[in-house]
Amino acid sequence: MPAVSNVLVIGAGLAGTATAIGLAAGGVAVDLIDVKPAVDAAGSGITMQGNGLRELRRLGVWEAVRAAGYPFSSLGLRAPDPAGTLLAEIPDARTGGADLPATVGLPRPALARILIDRALAAGARLRLGTSVSSLDPDPAPDPGSGGVGVVFSDGSAGRYDLVVGADGVRSATRKMIGITDEPQPTGMGIFRAFGPRPASVTRTDLIYGGPSYIAGYCPTGEATLYAYIVEDARDRSVLSQEQRLAAMLELAEAYHGPWDDIRPTLTDPAAVSYTQFEQLVVPAPWNRGRVVLIGDAAHACPPTLAQGGAQALEDAAVLTELLLSRPVADDALWAAFTARRFDRARTVVEASCQLGQWQLDHQQGDVPGLLAAITALVSQPA
Ligand SMILES: Cc1cc2nc3c(=O)[nH]c(=O)nc-3n(C[C@H](O)[C@H](O)[C@H](O)COP(=O)(O)OP(=O)(O)OC[C@H]3O[C@@H](n4cnc5c(N)ncnc54)[C@H](O)[C@@H]3O)c2cc1C
Repeated sequence: MPAVSNVLVIGAGLAGTATAIGLAAGGVAVDLIDVKPAVDAAGSGITMQGNGLRELRRLGVWEAVRAAGYPFSSLGLRAPDPAGTLLAEIPDARTGGADLPATVGLPRPALARILIDRALAAGARLRLGTSVSSLDPDPAPDPGSGGVGVVFSDGSAGRYDLVVGADGVRSATRKMIGITDEPQPTGMGIFRAFGPRPASVTRTDLIYGGPSYIAGYCPTGEATLYAYIVEDARDRSVLSQEQRLAAMLELAEAYHGPWDDIRPTLTDPAAVSYTQFEQLVVPAPWNRGRVVLIGDAAHACPPTLAQGGAQALEDAAVLTELLLSRPVADDALWAAFTARRFDRARTVVEASCQLGQWQLDHQQGDVPGLLAAITALVSQPA
């Protein structure tokens, strides 16, 4: 028997859908809710590294992910010069194993749809446009027993053996269980644009320097890509969508090579977003009794390593494995969860921040050394 028989998962992002799939497939009754009326309606692209692909394969969606995305296994480094000179083409580590590509780029809405469909097929019940109004854990439950009463935003109520807070970096669940840690800005901001893929873009190329810190792009399918430019964090919220596109294009003027093919295609103001980088590591443990935080709700990193999504999937995998393989959700289970997840996620957050900080400080850090250490870490199964 699993440690839990019914679970509420709050948030149908990567962490939440992955948890719902794993638990529902293991015979647990799962309610999955999301505050949004649709989780696959909007979004840019995502770079999913091999260790994240390994988890997606375990969830039974690898074929769908491969079909929806664009696999590649090298990284290009280009100069911020008028020719966009290719400085290096580096074979990318296959952190999910030799039988998976190093990376797949894919549109976020497509990944969301794949995971939601799989969660529904596994038997999870999905309620969109729904959040939690109150959580009422049993007072001082035995470590191995008890549950959580829940009142939803529509006034309905439920009772669960476990509540999983997978509601992202601004997690309301985190606040409800009394954790006051909040994400902190790292000092960088990113323009991202989703658009058509020119034939010259067949993998991620990064350009360091020029008027911005990083200019890059990632193919997300035969027909699509997302392009991004990282700068000092600014309040870009005052800009209209048209002004945001114009500001990104102005910065992009300095970058060449495939950027010369990309720039003219970036014409849709609605396809451009601006986000300030943030970081968060909630100190262990991530549970308060029978409510646990996973994914960005527990740890969030700037996307300098493109590992946030993979770490969210790993949290879900480890939590699911422990809940399905142990008879009770007791202190030993939470200690095992902490042992397998806390240091690994914290190390990824710290490395992601360090990469950005070296740029903010205009300091030449040991980038290859840091990347090698993270590659070795995430190549190990979670
Ligand atoms: C600019 C940027 C670029 C990134 N690029 C990459 C990348 O290329 N590769 C990568 O691996 N990672 C990337 N990341 C990180 C990645 O997006 C996150 O780590 C990942 O989405 C975390 O998944 P999650 O499920 O924990 O949270 P989320 O994906 O944020 O999902 C949380 C879900 O909870 C829902 N929700 C929120 N509040 C409530 C509530 N009160 N009640 C119910 N539901 C709620 C939300 O609607 C959402 O659907 C990037 C992050 C940023 C900021």
